[in-house]
Amino acid sequence: CTAVAYFIIIGMITLNFSGCAPDKRKDEKDIKLGFLVDALWEERWKRDMDLFTENAKAYGANVYAKSASGQNELQIKMAMEMIREGLDVLVVVPSSSKSAKSIVDLAHKKGVKVIAYDRMIRDCKLDYYVSFDSRKVGEIQAEYLVKKYPKGNYVLVGGSEEDDNAKLLWEGQHKVLDPYIKRGDIKVVLEKWTEDWNPIVAYDNVNRALKENRNNITAILASNDGCARTAFQALSEHKLAGKVGLTGQDADIAACQRIVEGTQSMTVYKPIKKLASKAAEIAVMLAKGKEAPVNTKLNNGFCDVPSFLIDPACVDKFNIDEVVIDDGWQKKSEVYLNA
Ligand code: BGC
Repeated sequence: CTAVAYFIIIGMITLNFSGCAPDKRKDEKDIKLGFLVDALWEERWKRDMDLFTENAKAYGANVYAKSASGQNELQIKMAMEMIREGLDVLVVVPSSSKSAKSIVDLAHKKGVKVIAYDRMIRDCKLDYYVSFDSRKVGEIQAEYLVKKYPKGNYVLVGGSEEDDNAKLLWEGQHKVLDPYIKRGDIKVVLEKWTEDWNPIVAYDNVNRALKENRNNITAILASNDGCARTAFQALSEHKLAGKVGLTGQDADIAACQRIVEGTQSMTVYKPIKKLASKAAEIAVMLAKGKEAPVNTKLNNGFCDVPSFLIDPACVDKFNIDEVVIDDGWQKKSEVYLNA
């Protein structure tokens, strides 16, 4: 028995130095990374968390991942605890793009670097930002609608006002829509932020717009797939599903199913695998004190933050197979489950 244990231990040690184990040098100190998300309500965030963890582990880093269940104060508390326990780099999807400034200030006091993930952290000396071009996401959504519906009554379902992305989406959407609005071709009958990106809030707003306009709605510009889900629900209740233009963002499974069924016009695919692996690579480089790659600089109200932006892609029923399924984001059997 002792002999067997001896050979297992020797085997494990040999494996560790034979190159089969992740690239982790003997003298390298253990890298500790924190990964804090706002909430796990949308399908994507759990996948962001898992993919980031997987990628960072492959570099030999330890990851402590947590969700703040949409609570800003809780997220700050979680960050404080993680920092107190010892971290090299903290990666944050802020619950509030403004309040998360205090996380950055706290982290810096303890020499911990902060990367904002997907959502910008505003008004502070943020170390790094990794995301998609949200202005472009907004443009893609609006361009899709105006091409199909150049005239008519529009409902604009924005994101959470606490989220910097929602403002960028708004800018991108309006860049495209404003000439149509000015000409009087498009009339915005309702435009609202959606508190906490809560789909129930979006449902209430869409329902109200339908009632107030006696169902005379041409298109709903929903800022993400969560809001598109409840907009679809409201449309179904008014027997209008599939008859009104409807956008989204995230390519979550239910949205992909609606697209192939014809009840959602489009979504915007953001390759999360690329985002998570880039963020993990950058976090490990920062932890080692190295310069990380940038492809742009974005101002957060205080400074130009070294940033890495990834391009989003437009998805409809004509290209969903090549953009979403071939990229391994959703499975064909699930996307076409009810089609
Ligand atoms: C993200 C979207 C997401 C939304 C709600 C935004 O900041 O960019 O992908 O749907 O938050 O969680």
